[in-house]
Amino acid sequence: MLKELDNRTEKYFEAIRENKGYIGCNHGWYGIEEILAKKSPGTEVKLVKTYPGYFNSDDIKIYKYWLEGDRFCAEIAYQTDIDDFNIETHIFSKFPSEKDVKEIRSIMELEFDFKFNRLNPEFTCWECGHKVHWLDFKGKIQDKIDNLKEKYCGC
Ligand SMILES: [Zn+2]
Repeated sequence: MLKELDNRTEKYFEAIRENKGYIGCNHGWYGIEEILAKKSPGTEVKLVKTYPGYFNSDDIKIYKYWLEGDRFCAEIAYQTDIDDFNIETHIFSKFPSEKDVKEIRSIMELEFDFKFNRLNPEFTCWECGHKVHWLDFKGKIQDKIDNLKEKYCGC
């Protein structure tokens, strides 16, 4: 059973996504060009930037197109099995930096871990024994996530 996100975490995720102009994502076999060809034929899609990918993925490609406004798609393809692959298409209303794309993916993974109860937003620090919420720690997103995974409050 899926667990609901706590209010504080949900608001934090929302604020990050809103700040980056994040619209949403799709997972599957199709890249943005194929998706748009079906959904909105005739849409012109332009590759505008490439960022280095992850160790198991191709480069991150940023495409630009127009659909009820400027749209940017960060596309990441990777193999999931010997003969299967997945393409993630993350849609933004603003041009995303490499950091934006990576943060959006980090919080997507984190949301998944919380919902499937693999991680708990509240934990007891192994060092000082205080019970803390992962957002109590002041720092960058990735530092907060690292501390949460290590169950360390930053004391
Ligand atoms: Zn501590």
